[in-house]
Amino acid sequence: MATYEYRCPRDGDFEVRLPLGGAGTVVPCPTCRGEAGRVWSAPMLARTPRALGTALDRAAASAETPEVVSRIPGRRPAAAAPAGAAHARLPRI
Ligand SMILES: [Zn+2]
Repeated sequence: MATYEYRCPRDGDFEVRLPLGGAGTVVPCPTCRGEAGRVWSAPMLARTPRALGTALDRAAASAETPEVVSRIPGRRPAAAAPAGAAHARLPRI
C-alpha cells in the first residue's frame, strides 16, 4: 500500500491509500464526490535539521583533524582565590 495525495478544487488536499501503482490521475473527493486530481509531491524526504547537520559535520571533521585547545572546552578559567587564611585552606576545584 502507498499513500497518494489528491486535491479537490473545492475541499482541498486529501490522501488516499491504494496498492502500489494503483493510483489514478483522478479520484472522487470524499467530501463532495467531485473529481480530485492527483498531486505530485516528494516521497517522504526528510531533511536533516541544521543543528544536527552542523554537529555531524564537526564530528566528522574532528575525527580527521581534531581542534587544538588550550583549556577544557566549556569550562571557565578558575577565578582567583580570595585573600585570607580561611579561604587558603579550602580545597581547589
Ligand atoms: Zn471536494
